[in-house]
Amino acid sequence: MPQFPFEPPQPTTLPIAGSEARFPVHRVYCVGRNYAAHAIEMGHDPDREAPFFFQKNPGNLDTSGEFPYPDRTCDVHHEVEMAVMLKSGGTNIPELEALDHVYGYALALDMTRRDLQAEQKKLGRPWDISKAFEHSAPIGPVQPASTVGHLAEGRISLKVNGAVRQEGNLNQLIWKVPELISCLSEYFELVGGDVILSGTPAGVSSVVRGDVLEVEIEGLGSMVVSVF
Ligand code: MN
Repeated sequence: MPQFPFEPPQPTTLPIAGSEARFPVHRVYCVGRNYAAHAIEMGHDPDREAPFFFQKNPGNLDTSGEFPYPDRTCDVHHEVEMAVMLKSGGTNIPELEALDHVYGYALALDMTRRDLQAEQKKLGRPWDISKAFEHSAPIGPVQPASTVGHLAEGRISLKVNGAVRQEGNLNQLIWKVPELISCLSEYFELVGGDVILSGTPAGVSSVVRGDVLEVEIEGLGSMVVSVF
């Protein structure tokens, strides 16, 4: 057994639907502006420019069903996203082989301190403090592709207190899952345990304490997250 000068942090693992096994998380990659209607609502050109990526921390993933309203912000937005979970990886992965590396999928939220992000954009600074904070990535159980298949279309939506706020279809992704994996693998060495949040459809907006968020993706069911 290795010796540590203090108790080492615990690795992040996620429940797997229908299994006692847990999905061990390596990194969490996120894609920006991957639905045209969301790019437009954020003031950008929806044309197919190269995808861009940012990261959250593995420990930001949270399966508790609760989202504590964070400090240092007055404007936290919900972004419903499909998470793609890898079982293997590599570099320069061809698109045609990309889905062979996918273990499964999950419902996820990319919670964002939008006011901080707007400031950082204006100043040309990185997004970490607006994106990669504690509890910023509520996520459901991992659903193996061997059970649910590979999802290329299907309704993706988010309700706040029963009212639909975000709505789209996975077939509207500007960069499809195999393209995202292939492109990411040109910049990073992907490995089993990596998680990719694939982007959010239009309709992002603020949450307040007491809100109940219900996210739904056709083929993956639904997940409820309470803001407190
Ligand atoms: Mn996002």
